[in-house]
Amino acid sequence: MHGEAQLEPPAEHPADEIRRLQRCINDLVSVLALPAIWTGSEPSQIVSTLLDALLGMLHLDLVYVRLKDPVGEGPIEMVRCALTLKLALKLTTRPQEIGEVLDHWLGDDPQKWPPLVRNAIGGEDISIVPLRLGLQGEIGVIVAGSQRTDFPGQTERLLLSVAANQASIGLQEARLLSQQKRVASELDQRVAQRTRDLAAANEELRKEIAERRLAEERLRREERELKRSEAFLAEGQHLSRTGSFSWQVATGEITWSEQLYRIFEFEQDAPVTIERIGTRVHPEDLPLVIDMIDRARGASRDFEFEHRLQMPDHSVKYLHLVAHGIRDHDGRLEYIGAIQDVTQRRFAEEALGKARSELAHVARVTSLGALTASIAHELNQPLQGIITNAGTCLRMLAADPPNVEGARETARRTIRDGNRASEVVTRLRALFSKKDVTAESVDLNEATREVIALSLSKLQRSRVILRPELADDLPPVTGDRVQLQQVILNLFLNALDAMSGVDDRPRRLVIRTERDEGDRVRLAVQDAGVGFEPQGVDKLFEPFYTTKSGGMGIGLSVSRSIIESHHGRLWAAANDGPGATFSFSIPRVPARVTGAHSNRDIGTPAVSDTDAA
Ligand code: ADP
Repeated sequence: MHGEAQLEPPAEHPADEIRRLQRCINDLVSVLALPAIWTGSEPSQIVSTLLDALLGMLHLDLVYVRLKDPVGEGPIEMVRCALTLKLALKLTTRPQEIGEVLDHWLGDDPQKWPPLVRNAIGGEDISIVPLRLGLQGEIGVIVAGSQRTDFPGQTERLLLSVAANQASIGLQEARLLSQQKRVASELDQRVAQRTRDLAAANEELRKEIAERRLAEERLRREERELKRSEAFLAEGQHLSRTGSFSWQVATGEITWSEQLYRIFEFEQDAPVTIERIGTRVHPEDLPLVIDMIDRARGASRDFEFEHRLQMPDHSVKYLHLVAHGIRDHDGRLEYIGAIQDVTQRRFAEEALGKARSELAHVARVTSLGALTASIAHELNQPLQGIITNAGTCLRMLAADPPNVEGARETARRTIRDGNRASEVVTRLRALFSKKDVTAESVDLNEATREVIALSLSKLQRSRVILRPELADDLPPVTGDRVQLQQVILNLFLNALDAMSGVDDRPRRLVIRTERDEGDRVRLAVQDAGVGFEPQGVDKLFEPFYTTKSGGMGIGLSVSRSIIESHHGRLWAAANDGPGATFSFSIPRVPARVTGAHSNRDIGTPAVSDTDAA
């Protein structure tokens, strides 16, 4: 049913022809003006105005437009229909349906479309002109239809093709515009997102700055507080004459508080080292300090000791040191401690000690005097009686005749008085050594520790290095705890006395407990003191033997009688090196704990308690 487009019939009158041409020019101008109207419009608006314009201008019965995909949202189809055709189509003017019918007539390929198709829609004859939008129809298609048999005339064809060209241009511009808009809107979105990101980053930064400011403020406050407490500490150290220190054993690094510089009278110009400290230590105490440092290096421990300093002006200071050893994560040893200048206290203590020992001396002399007086008095009476009775006895025997009965009586009285004198001596011995031994279980280690604790301040004052070597597995002994402690204390104090004049070597004191043969326990006190002549060793245990100006000479003899009452043995031995070792050994469980005394018991050889009778 394809047909050729008919040429327009020539006008009958030139005037008609002129009017027709004028209309044609007007229409052409209107079509050419369309792009100006479309500027900035959406493709659907463009199509809509194009359809209206063509329908009005060419009195068409059908105009259909399909745009392939103008804005990337799928094809757009639109249709305009004259009322008569609508009626013929029974009002079915849905663009998709009309589009399907047209596709069916025209085919898929726009290149092969005929310029004109005659066909019937709904029984009505209709001439159809398909026009491509874009060179290959890539934009879409316009289909114009009319029931007129002379459609399309020449000018109509011209108008349709110009309109199609204009529409192509308009739609391309619209597409460009919409692309531009899309790009612009994408850009806008990206700018907005970036702005939001920047704002968030900004906010984050602001927060961070605020937090940092707070942290700085806190740090400043803590610094102020630290400075304040440092000032307090310095003031406290100054007032108490106490300085603090730390010592990294591995590196030798020493940190000192200001007060320590003051105590040692060091300039704060150079770091403190062990060698520098050594230049201030009193030469007599140097061995003690070196020994302490050596032992501190060896193992982590706690220390407390005293030593002296000798200042450049030869004045002497007494220091009390307390240190605590700790190990860090890597096992490195560090000591933290405090040193107090106790010079004033030490002077006061020395004065007090001197006064106390003077007082003790006076008391001892006084009590010895009183004791002597009472002994003299007690002995005097029976002695007087003996002398008187012996004189009377002699007289009675010299009488003529001799009064034998009287002499016998006076001789009996003499014996009685002799016994009385002997009793006095016995009582005196009982006074020096307690006769009854209390039998209890005694841990000699513990008893020794108590004695050490009691003598600690004296040990420190005497600058003695004490080394207890107490056996872990020492079994308890049965005996009198107080008496045994008396013996230990006595050996202890004798050892200190023996070392009091020693200045050329450390005043080392070892106290050792151990198991002895035959289920016995042994305790030894070893000093580095003056020692004794081996040949005179027995003399030491004699009552009233002393080499000390204030000594009584009864300590060792009482000690020996106590140990013997425990069925044990007390003896002295000279050391290989300097000093002496005093030891005792006692059975763990004595067969029979009694108050028995050996012939070494207290009492002078001159006084014998054998019955005079
Ligand atoms: P005192 O201590 O009153 O002198 P002791 O009986 O305890 O009486 O000691 C007697 C003497 O034995 C002492 O004066 C001293 O000469 C000597 N002596 C005691 N212990 C030791 C010792 N550890 N080293 C050297 N001599 C000692």
